[in-house]
Amino acid sequence: MMAKRIVTILPDMTFEESLEVTKIYSIVGKNSNKSLMTTRPFRSPHHTISSTSMVGGGSIPKPGEVSLAHNGVLFLDELPEFKRSSLEVLRGPLEDRTVSISRVQSNLTYPCNFMLVASMNPCPCGYFGDKERKCKCTEQQIANYKNRISGPLLDRIDLHIEVSNVKFKNLSNSEEESSEEIKKRVNKARNIQEERYKEYEIHSNSELTNRLMEKFCVLKESSRNILERYFNKNSLSARSYSKILKVARTIADLEESKDIEDRHILEALRYRSLDKR
Ligand SMILES: [Zn+2]
Repeated sequence: MMAKRIVTILPDMTFEESLEVTKIYSIVGKNSNKSLMTTRPFRSPHHTISSTSMVGGGSIPKPGEVSLAHNGVLFLDELPEFKRSSLEVLRGPLEDRTVSISRVQSNLTYPCNFMLVASMNPCPCGYFGDKERKCKCTEQQIANYKNRISGPLLDRIDLHIEVSNVKFKNLSNSEEESSEEIKKRVNKARNIQEERYKEYEIHSNSELTNRLMEKFCVLKESSRNILERYFNKNSLSARSYSKILKVARTIADLEESKDIEDRHILEALRYRSLDKR
């Protein structure tokens, strides 16, 4: 449910983004009313999907799910159920934001700047860590289940969050913040980033290069110590390091804080529950 709502809090598409999405959907004949598409796409392919349908291809090369999710969200429900081959092909597109399909006659490149959202259970039976029901899985079964997601793929995911079961009485709780309210904060943070990067040909924190991170993600001594301790304990990759810094920069932007403070780093580290696996 949360995954499906994500598109409702993302910033509105710019005119250029709308054009890109419309073009892709026109290619595959999915823009039946032939008008400009203005809502961000949300794609949620079934776990039986082939690697070709995921990234695109075929004898008459067509865009895959990653391109249909361009400027929007690609949601993979029950991530460990997907074939390993269909997940591993995501690594390149997640990094490059484009997919190239080579054929004898031609080379085609489709854009695929999507947000990957995935869900999984804590174990095969689903109750590991649950306060009320007992998990029936063995340690080995749980390890096998988690190992179906490769380290390199996991390394490309910025936030991992555990959610517990919702109590019945909370299901109809209408006092939560609306998407519209949250979206205002998202837009504000996005505007701060547009403004900060206007001379650098990027728009958001996720696009920061290592060189730009040295300029815009400066850490205080105390924040560096927190990060160092976390890294030594969890032996993380350089890629994870830059992801944590970018997330901390975004948390600071949401708070309209000019500098990254210790609390922003600490919050970013709380969204890394799979590091401890
Ligand atoms: Zn279990």
